[in-house]
Amino acid sequence: MHVPFFSYPRVFTSSERELLEIIRQVGRRGAFIMQEDLRVFEENIAKFTGARFALGVGNATDALELLLSAAGISGGDEVIVCSHTLIATASAVQRLGARAVPVEVGRDSLMDPESAQAAVSSKTKAILPTQLNGRICDMDAIADIATKHGLVIVEDSAQALGATYLGKAAGTFGFGGCISFYPAKSLGSLGDGGVILCNDAQIHEILSMMRDHGRDPLTGEVKMWGRNSRLDNMQAAILNYRLRSFDEHISKRREVARLYHSILKSVKELTLPIGPDDDPERFDVFQNYEIQAGERDALKQYLTDHHIGSIIQWGGKALHQLRHLGFDASLPRTDAFMSRILLLPMNQFLTENEAVYVAQTVKEFYGYE
Ligand SMILES: *Cc1c(COP(=O)(O)O)cnc(C)c1O
Repeated sequence: MHVPFFSYPRVFTSSERELLEIIRQVGRRGAFIMQEDLRVFEENIAKFTGARFALGVGNATDALELLLSAAGISGGDEVIVCSHTLIATASAVQRLGARAVPVEVGRDSLMDPESAQAAVSSKTKAILPTQLNGRICDMDAIADIATKHGLVIVEDSAQALGATYLGKAAGTFGFGGCISFYPAKSLGSLGDGGVILCNDAQIHEILSMMRDHGRDPLTGEVKMWGRNSRLDNMQAAILNYRLRSFDEHISKRREVARLYHSILKSVKELTLPIGPDDDPERFDVFQNYEIQAGERDALKQYLTDHHIGSIIQWGGKALHQLRHLGFDASLPRTDAFMSRILLLPMNQFLTENEAVYVAQTVKEFYGYE
């Protein structure tokens, strides 16, 4: 059996006929930029997440940069981020001339609120937690820190479309959040794409102008400096189609997580993510299945030898370990964590047989039956 970590062709081939038809229809209408499909998609995503507004942009990194900019983050400001995140979280901050301050991961593999609290300085303006792997971090503790120090909360919820905490969706807790439609994300487009989620009408209006050259969406009048970061109407049309099966895809991901959990929970060399049925306050969407593993590199090699794809997040380096970018924080807990993490295959295309094969092979590596 061969189980790739992710099959990019399947993003297309799994519904090739339907996608070609959408491309044909949109193409014949010449509806490429800021058309009806985008408007409908924004409405659908807002409805799905419970956000008041959703705004299609070029990608989730742009979404973060636009949100931070609209929140007034600028040169000299500090923004607290979790070190265990994609470089995009920090680069959105850096692009504004501000400084991303990485902090430790907690026991839930997400931003550790205590470490975030300790990193607050007189320059801190915002806190930017990552809802990584499709799970929402301790937003109560983060909100307390934000309230206490007058900080803006922006969520990197790029990986967490549909995840909830106490019924509230990722990206809707603070000033705003982002969602990514990168092809390997749980709702993937045929290229780059993203949305901004926000709840404030005035902020939504500003962001609507910022993403489109500073132009007023109704009159076209240029009212401010902007840029070009729009979600292609073609991608929006494709995403509208895909959104219809999204709940079913998330169920499949949670089913795979349940299988992994039931087979691997007895392996004492592993730390597993919290199982899909083990946290009544949260609905996790399992963008990834991230384990912590003893002898991680040998396990990865063993999986490769058994034709199973796996990935070490961020090429093995957390933010604070990226010395080329000038980070110099000492985060020993995240260092230890990074030496153990591994992503097992997790997507809606995995069959039950494949998931069992993956989990059994992991078990076999550690000498379990
Ligand atoms: C994918 C991702 C992003 C960036 O999304 P793009 O749409 O590729 O810009 C940001 N943060 C995290 C945690 C991601 O996984």
